[in-house]
Amino acid sequence: MLERGEVANSWRNERWDSLRLLTPNWQSRLPGLRYEGPDPDGYMTTAEVTGLIERFAVSSRAAVRTGTNVTSVRPADQGYRVTANQGEIRCRAVVIASGACNRPSVPQFSDSVPASVEQLTPFDYRDPAKLPDGGVLVVGASATGVQLAAEIRRSGRPVTLSVGEHVRLPRTYRGRDVLWWMDASGVWDQRYDEVDDLTRARRLPSPQLVGTPERATLDLNALASMGVELVGRWAAVRDGRALFSGGLRNLFSLADLKMRRLLDTFDEWARTYGRDAEVGPVERLAPTGVPSSTRLQLDLGSGEIRAIVWATGFRPDYRWLDVPVIDAKGQLRHEGGVVDSPGLYALGLPVLRRRRSTFICGIEDDAREVIDHLARHLAIRR
Ligand SMILES: Cc1cc2nc3c(=O)[nH]c(=O)nc-3n(C[C@H](O)[C@H](O)[C@H](O)COP(=O)(O)OP(=O)(O)OC[C@H]3O[C@@H](n4cnc5c(N)ncnc54)[C@H](O)[C@@H]3O)c2cc1C
Repeated sequence: MLERGEVANSWRNERWDSLRLLTPNWQSRLPGLRYEGPDPDGYMTTAEVTGLIERFAVSSRAAVRTGTNVTSVRPADQGYRVTANQGEIRCRAVVIASGACNRPSVPQFSDSVPASVEQLTPFDYRDPAKLPDGGVLVVGASATGVQLAAEIRRSGRPVTLSVGEHVRLPRTYRGRDVLWWMDASGVWDQRYDEVDDLTRARRLPSPQLVGTPERATLDLNALASMGVELVGRWAAVRDGRALFSGGLRNLFSLADLKMRRLLDTFDEWARTYGRDAEVGPVERLAPTGVPSSTRLQLDLGSGEIRAIVWATGFRPDYRWLDVPVIDAKGQLRHEGGVVDSPGLYALGLPVLRRRRSTFICGIEDDAREVIDHLARHLAIRR
């Protein structure tokens, strides 16, 4: 197992200070390692996630070679030649587990933002105190964007949030964590070959969720009530002005509709399987409030906005992979983790084999199935 940094590298070095998992503690399970602490419904800090993964590395006796940066993987006789800063390895099979979130995904037009405005990605952002004084424009309203917008607003700064397509979810529903429902109802276990539009499912943004001791919902209504100004999707920069799309009403009603459909699925599951008595009464959530007027542009040179935080998503980094298995969008071509090149496998990517694949609780089942395939591949080659 080759790791360029330390065990749990991404959790040590690539997250902001206040981040907690949005998945509850009882769900942070790894093979043979269950949460046994005092707060199963709480949410781990990044230091606690690092501790969990470190404990797993020890208990699983993983042979991790840390400080080993892989710079190239290329086909060679009977397998692959892996080049790393520590030397070369010949192997018959390779599992790519280098993560789905190695780099920030930032639109090209960020180059046209005036130099007077500081630009950050979630990789640079640590806490609001390190931002320049003044207004902040957070771009993207998925898990990262809503969490950072709330934290920066609480620090006293004016915050504008640019909202594109998003997934709205309440933190709790009928008295249970919404991720309990995803788990119990089997929605999270839907398999990749049962999903109607797999390409779309794999590109779905993360849900608007935050893990806090209060188990508070952090949707756009909550942000608006904190004084965050909502604007549409950022479409372009022209003459130093940010131009936002209109149509917030449509975006909001689509997200509300999808959330209602999901909650209906949960209700139907509870009814069908006789679980109604275990949970609270059916709830109906208020629709997302549309602001009476929204700005369609913002002068980035006026001094109103001093910093931009790009919470526009993440992408994997395969610049080290010298095998022609990357599509035009920079994603790995694979079928349930079996990559389009014999002996090459992947784990930890969105909806790799099930909807939960990219979460910590998704790895166990995926790994078992992918490694089954790998073992058969090695047996046949032998
Ligand atoms: C902001 C954020 C919040 C998240 N919140 C949650 C959550 O609440 N709950 C949850 O279950 N999941 C969450 N996730 C998803 C989470 O990342 C995964 O659950 C889990 O960390 C994925 O583990 P991984 O090992 O597949 O990938 P990573 O954690 O990304 O690990 C990949 C490793 O590969 C190493 N690497 C990469 N390239 C190379 C190379 N060329 N050579 C050597 N080593 C290399 C990296 O250093 C890294 O250590 C979150 C992700 C992000 C980005």
